[in-house]
Amino acid sequence: MSIPIHTYDAVIVGAGLAGSAAARELQKSGKKVAVITKLHPLRSHSGAAQGGVNAAFSAEDSVELHEFDTVKGSDYLADQDVVEFMCKHAPETIRWAERMGAAFSRQENGMIAQRPFGGQSSPRACYAKDRTGLTLLQTVYEQALREGVDFWDEWYAADILYKDGKAYGVAAFNIRNMEKAIFNAKEVMFATGGYARSFKINSNAHANTGDGLSIVARHGLPLEDMEFVQFHPSGLSGNGVLISEAARGEGGRLLNSLGERFMEKYAPNALELASRDVVARAIIQEIREGRGVGPRKDAVYIDLVHLGKDLIMERLPELRDLAITFLGLDMIKEPILISATAHYSMGGIPCDVDGHVRKNNTEFVEGFYAAGECSCVSVHGANRLGANSVLEALLFGRYVGKAMVKDLDGIELKVATQEDAKTMLDEVEWVLTNNGTERVPHLRTELQQGMTDNAGVFRTHETLELQMKNIADLRERYKNIRIDDKSKIFNTELQEAIEFGHMLDYSLFIVKSALERKESRGAHYREDFDTRDDENFLKHTMGYMDKDGNIDLEYMDVVLGKHELKARTY
Ligand SMILES: Cc1cc2nc3c(=O)[nH]c(=O)nc-3n(C[C@H](O)[C@H](O)[C@H](O)COP(=O)(O)OP(=O)(O)OC[C@H]3O[C@@H](n4cnc5c(N)ncnc54)[C@H](O)[C@@H]3O)c2cc1C
Repeated sequence: MSIPIHTYDAVIVGAGLAGSAAARELQKSGKKVAVITKLHPLRSHSGAAQGGVNAAFSAEDSVELHEFDTVKGSDYLADQDVVEFMCKHAPETIRWAERMGAAFSRQENGMIAQRPFGGQSSPRACYAKDRTGLTLLQTVYEQALREGVDFWDEWYAADILYKDGKAYGVAAFNIRNMEKAIFNAKEVMFATGGYARSFKINSNAHANTGDGLSIVARHGLPLEDMEFVQFHPSGLSGNGVLISEAARGEGGRLLNSLGERFMEKYAPNALELASRDVVARAIIQEIREGRGVGPRKDAVYIDLVHLGKDLIMERLPELRDLAITFLGLDMIKEPILISATAHYSMGGIPCDVDGHVRKNNTEFVEGFYAAGECSCVSVHGANRLGANSVLEALLFGRYVGKAMVKDLDGIELKVATQEDAKTMLDEVEWVLTNNGTERVPHLRTELQQGMTDNAGVFRTHETLELQMKNIADLRERYKNIRIDDKSKIFNTELQEAIEFGHMLDYSLFIVKSALERKESRGAHYREDFDTRDDENFLKHTMGYMDKDGNIDLEYMDVVLGKHELKARTY
């Protein structure tokens, strides 16, 4: 039976802030756009962003300071030309979102309110209470709908159509009933979000399984800087659910079992508002040295009681609810238990400032674009600053959409054939019929535990070697899986099996890239190489995977600029 082929000008995978913003731009310019999303758009992880979105526009702040903070936060691995572009266009992006209907919290005088975030010289994060991402996502999604974008909700993109250096569509299936389709287009964009689900303790939505990255990598295309995974300092103890940096921005204090405000030791000036990697390491260090709290002594306190009920209810109502729901602790009355949680992926699909995806250090793939958390335009380098990521998704989503409009007429449609669905059909068939003995949830738990233990906040050659072996072993066992649900209706067992395959592939990039980066920079901390080594490692990692899952690493120059290399202290 033949599979329908839908033809569009552009097909976008992902309906979070990046995908929806790009889709709106394209459709508004009269192009025909399909957005494929495995979730309802409003359930994209962008909607979980609590704390804020950066833009330097107050009298005390400047675009140059925003650039400096971002470059310093990145431990000098960010490409400075891209950082300049983002910081320059940030204020206008906030105005753009507001004019479309996003209601930001305001000061008494009517100006948009801004709160302090870690590693930043000035209060810079614009916010809508602690529901910033949802407010923005609702706005952008509604506007994309209004322009007439075709959203294919609950469709799972299983493969990209890619041949001879050119992308020309996506093969996908409908999660509701296993209907299959090919989406053929002149331009393809990936906006598939982050991948922290491969860690046991993480703050991410269940959907953040890095599908986009592994799909790309399986075609021999590179992934960049995958060793840089951000561990956020404040995940609820035990499950990692995020307590936004807004809690520290508003004045939350971190305390150990002796009641000490321990950040005084680690970052005497910035204290709790040092950059995330610094605070996360301090927390784990306190726990390792026996000053943890909670029943398992594996957490520290964040104390917000002194802020008072009114401020908490006004600015942090969601955070209070989360702590009550998951820990039974009310932050108005008592400190709550937190620890570091895998949160954000700095690495991803390498691209330039217009979203053009790289084939290697010097060439690009024709008709292929990426934006948002799945991409690595390298604005965050080795460590992202809080509230720079919603900005990245919104801003680059929009600008990559504009670049796609500009490029479109110069691209010829490569017509898809039935053959283009083969990889997807084979994969689905294999998962449905493979009759082994292994169960995906067990394998997944092992992967997650190993990633947290061996490739987490602290890493060494031994732990990373061990995790390489673990993943190699899990890849073998994955060949021997079996699922019970053979049905066509919402077959989540099938979907999770495919997603786990993706988790295995991109995790290999994380570990291999971390193993070979013999220095400590930003979020990547090697106990056996505990300083930054600019002489040998001021460069981006570019990883390529072969058919057997071997990863070959190359390196690419960092774009330096006016912000000179310095030691990073807070
Ligand atoms: C709890 C939490 C709080 C955060 N708070 C902040 C904050 O306050 N400030 C800040 O700057 N950043 C924050 N971040 C980070 C920020 O929210 C994200 O980096 C950003 O929103 C990502 O947007 P995106 O559009 O790239 O991806 P997402 O919003 O994650 O969207 C991904 C899309 O891809 C689709 N998709 C993925 N795979 C497939 C597939 N195989 N087939 C079809 N569709 C697929 C999904 O359906 C989804 O629509 C937070 C993150 C978390 C987890």
